[in-house]
Amino acid sequence: MPPRFRITTLGCRVNHAETREIESVLLARGLARTDGPEPADLEVVHTCSVTTTAAAKSRHAVRRARRRQGETPFVLVTGCYAETNRDEAIGIAGDPARVIAHEDVAANGATMIDRLTDAVDRWLAGPSAETDPRRPEPPPAAASGGRLAGLPVIMPERDAGSHVRAELRIQDGCDAHCTFCIIPKIRRTLRSKTVGDAVAEARRLVDLGHREIVLTGIFIGAYGHETALRRHQADPNAEPLADLIDAVAAVPGLERLRVSSMEPGDVTAALLDAMVANAPTVVPHLHLPLQSGSDRVLGRMNRQYRVDAYLEMIVAVNAALTTGDGLPPAITTDIICGFPGETDADFERTLEVARRVGYLHMHVFPYSARPGTAASRWRDDFVDESVKKQRVRRLIDLEDDPVDGLSLRYRRKLRERALRVILEQPDRSDPAFMTGRCDHYALVHVRTDRPRGTVITTTIQDVTADRTTAVQEPASVPLPVLTA
Ligand code: SF4
Repeated sequence: MPPRFRITTLGCRVNHAETREIESVLLARGLARTDGPEPADLEVVHTCSVTTTAAAKSRHAVRRARRRQGETPFVLVTGCYAETNRDEAIGIAGDPARVIAHEDVAANGATMIDRLTDAVDRWLAGPSAETDPRRPEPPPAAASGGRLAGLPVIMPERDAGSHVRAELRIQDGCDAHCTFCIIPKIRRTLRSKTVGDAVAEARRLVDLGHREIVLTGIFIGAYGHETALRRHQADPNAEPLADLIDAVAAVPGLERLRVSSMEPGDVTAALLDAMVANAPTVVPHLHLPLQSGSDRVLGRMNRQYRVDAYLEMIVAVNAALTTGDGLPPAITTDIICGFPGETDADFERTLEVARRVGYLHMHVFPYSARPGTAASRWRDDFVDESVKKQRVRRLIDLEDDPVDGLSLRYRRKLRERALRVILEQPDRSDPAFMTGRCDHYALVHVRTDRPRGTVITTTIQDVTADRTTAVQEPASVPLPVLTA
C-alpha cells in the first residue's frame, strides 16, 4: 500500500489553492490521499495567522496531526503561521526542517513547494537522507520578481471534493505595506502564473467537473507586475490581467469566471473591456475592498486610493457591467471597523460610502492588531472594543435590515429577471430545493430535481431579508446581456 498523506488547510482562498499544489506534488510521488480517520504517514498542516484565532487554530491543527501519528510523527508545517510564529511552530512540529515558511524560501528563488518537495523526497528516501545536512539545496526556481513566471502550474488528479467552484491562483505576494497587514512581511516576493500555465490549469479544472473558476491571488491587480505599488510598476499601462481573462474565459466548457479582489487603479478600462468582451462567462460581480470610507483612515492604512477614486471606480464598474435591461453588477467588499484613530465621524463616512455603493455583501471585520505591523504599535490610538463591536453591528444592520437593508435592496433588483444559476448543493431546510449562486453572486434557492453542477435558467420570484427564491425556466428563456 502506498504511504498515505493528509492535508489540513486553514485560512484564505490562497491557502486552499496552494493545497492543490501540495496535493499534486504528493500524488505525483505515488502517495495516496486520505481524508478519513485512519492514521496518515505524512501530515501537512497548511497554516494561517491572519488573526490570533487563526494562529490558535493552526497551533491546534499541528498538535492534533502529531497526536494522530503516534510515536514517530512526520508533520510538515507550511504557510503563514510557519513564518510569523516560526519558533513556536518549530517547537510544536519538533524539527526546524519541517517548518516551511514563505519568505525564508524566497531568498534563492526556491518556492515553498520546492522546499516541501525536497522535504518529502528526503523523507521517502529514508531517515538518513532526511537528516543528511550535506544534501544540496533545491535548485533555484524560475523566480522572476513578479514577471509571468514563478508560480507553479497545478494539475490536480482529482476533483477536490465535488466542488462546483474552483480557485485558480494566478498571483502571489504583496509589497504594498498596508499598515494593518502582515502579508508583505510573509509573502513580499511577487510572482505571477504564466497565461499558458493558467489556461492549462483551468482546462484541467474543467475536465474535473468544475463549472466556475475564481481567479485569486494576494493582490491580483499586480498580476504580471514586479510590484504591487502602482507608482513603481515598470509599465503601469500594461494590462496582463485583461490578457489573462481573455485566455482563461476561452477555455472550452468553462461556464463562469469570477475575478476577485481589486482596487481602484486595478480596475482599468482595459480590464472592464475584457470583462464585457468575455461575458457571460466573466460575470458581473466584483469584490472591491473599501476598508474605510474616510480619507484620513485610508491614509493611515497606507492604502493606494482615496474615497473619490473608489467611488469613481464604482461609477465605471456600473457603467460597464450594467446589463441592457438595467441590472447593475453585484459589488461586495471588505471593511475594517475601529482601525487605530478611527473617529465616529470617520465611521459615519464609511456608512455613507456603503449606502452610496449599495453593496450586495460586506465582509466586516473589527480591527485586530497583528504583531509586526505598523498599526499594531499605535496603541494610544486603539479604539475601544465595545466601540468596534457597535460599528461592526451598525454595518451588519445596514446590510441585513429586513425592510431596507443594502443586500435586500440589491436583490430586489433581481426580481422577475431570468438569471443563470449553477446548482451547488441541496437546500438544508427543504430537500425539494437546491441552492446555487446566480451570475450576480446572490445565493438562490430553487425548486428543482437537477443535480449539483447543472447550469439552469431561473426567474427570481421572491426576495426576503434572508432568502432569494427562484423558479426554474426552460433554457430557451433569454438572459440579460450587457449591451441593450
Ligand atoms: S494590499 Fe495591503 S491588505 Fe492587501 S495584501 Fe497587500 S499589504 Fe495586505
